[in-house]
Amino acid sequence: MQAVDYDLVVVGAGSGGYAAARTARELGATVALVDHGPLGGLCILRGCMPSKALIASSDAIAEAREAGALGVRIEGSIAPDMPFIARRKRALVKEFAEYRVAGIETFPLHVGHAHFRSDRELQVGEHTILRAKSFVVATGSVVAPVAIAGLRETGYLDSDAVLELESIPQSVAVLGGGYTACELGQFLSRMGAKTTMLIRSNHLLTDSDDDIGETLMGYYREDGIEVVTHTSIARVEARGKQKAVHYVVQGEQRVLLVDEIFFAMGRVPNVAGLALEAAGVRYDAKKGMGFDRAMRTNVPHIFAIGDVTGDFLLVHVAIYQGEIAARNAVTGSSEEADYRTMSAHTIFSDPQVAHVGMTEKELQRAGIAYCVGRYDFAEHGKAMCLNKTRGFVKMMAGLPTGEIVGASIIGPQASELIHEVIVAMNYHATVDQFMRIPHLHPTLAEIWTYPAEECASKCGTREPIDQMIEVATSAGAS
Ligand SMILES: Cc1cc2nc3c(=O)[nH]c(=O)nc-3n(C[C@H](O)[C@H](O)[C@H](O)COP(=O)(O)OP(=O)(O)OC[C@H]3O[C@@H](n4cnc5c(N)ncnc54)[C@H](O)[C@@H]3O)c2cc1C
Repeated sequence: MQAVDYDLVVVGAGSGGYAAARTARELGATVALVDHGPLGGLCILRGCMPSKALIASSDAIAEAREAGALGVRIEGSIAPDMPFIARRKRALVKEFAEYRVAGIETFPLHVGHAHFRSDRELQVGEHTILRAKSFVVATGSVVAPVAIAGLRETGYLDSDAVLELESIPQSVAVLGGGYTACELGQFLSRMGAKTTMLIRSNHLLTDSDDDIGETLMGYYREDGIEVVTHTSIARVEARGKQKAVHYVVQGEQRVLLVDEIFFAMGRVPNVAGLALEAAGVRYDAKKGMGFDRAMRTNVPHIFAIGDVTGDFLLVHVAIYQGEIAARNAVTGSSEEADYRTMSAHTIFSDPQVAHVGMTEKELQRAGIAYCVGRYDFAEHGKAMCLNKTRGFVKMMAGLPTGEIVGASIIGPQASELIHEVIVAMNYHATVDQFMRIPHLHPTLAEIWTYPAEECASKCGTREPIDQMIEVATSAGAS
């Protein structure tokens, strides 16, 4: 057995682990990365990037179908070329992965499965022991275990398999209503699969506010995706070449016959096989590794970041946590993560959904007094010009200060438009201050000024117009 010493060993070279290793190296630490491969991380290989490459194609199909409304006639049928789409996605993933692997290989890299032997020793494969002053565990997440009778035997697609499809099944049952189910379920539908989403709750995206999830569900139904709410899946069985999904809706037993089943019921932290107990680290197989805001586990020199924490399964959060953990590990400090705006997220459905800060549900649960302003894209000039009138924006301001505490959007370019509010919230802007930021016309972004104005009026924080003119005049004069 060969033993090597480092200041820091990072287990998992995905987005979070790579960010941790880079940060620690910049601080002068000796750092090693450990990964059993394939190298590249979930985001690049089986997550964000392949899914968005595929969704670009299904969005293009929708654009082409809508072109008639703008007076553009497309002769002949609009049909996806799935082999081309799959090839394009593979080429992009290969390019992104090669770039990332080149970065990973600038570190001492130990390839193999890692498990702890003690709180100071990690074994990689059969022959290597890594000793370190600190460890960062960044082993990501795996698809949630299947707990539906008969599903494993009958066969199903998970998100990895959907991303690898070379042809589209004629009909699909999507089990789940979270972001992966929404993004890839709509992709399958637009590529030609008759798609039925079976969800437990009363609308899609249960973590979002009801108006967002219900609105998205309404659009999906308009577009031909059947969404069945309040379902409980009883069992699954093979029926000839098809698959039968037995489910119950409010006491009524139903059967759905489909060619494929897309199991999209979430992911769980990847802690299996790490032998965390040998290091004395507490963890929960479902909830992930316990950690504090400085990313420390109960063993102070062992840190946990990214999906393995089971907290926010988002790339920018994994990177943020990785950087914090590395700084704390190398310097011994206790910098803490702040998720006020960091928990912002987006869903690449069409229309897209995005959110920053607290939802109305969260504000109500926390007993925070707030007011809300809302504006529909159907009333917004630029959206009407673009024929993108689905959805709305809403902004929440805390009382009595008028500080923006959250914002949600369902609509065109939501993933881009949310950044304006992220920036404003980052600087603790009030709705009054937000209204005074110039907004170019006609743009989609200027839609935010309407809920800000409504909030300011409702909150009673709106400055009298003469006072605002005075501010503008004195600013102009200086
Ligand atoms: C379909 C899909 C779409 C997504 N879309 C988005 C999106 O649009 N935006 C977004 O922000 N997020 C998205 N995500 C989530 C995002 O991909 C993850 O949050 C992020 O990649 C997690 O990074 P990580 O560093 O925590 O883990 P990972 O990138 O999974 O890295 C973990 C690494 O650890 C290695 N490893 C694991 N166990 C061991 C072990 N015992 N020994 C050695 N090595 C090990 C693995 O090989 C892997 O390389 C998506 C996820 C999916 C599945």
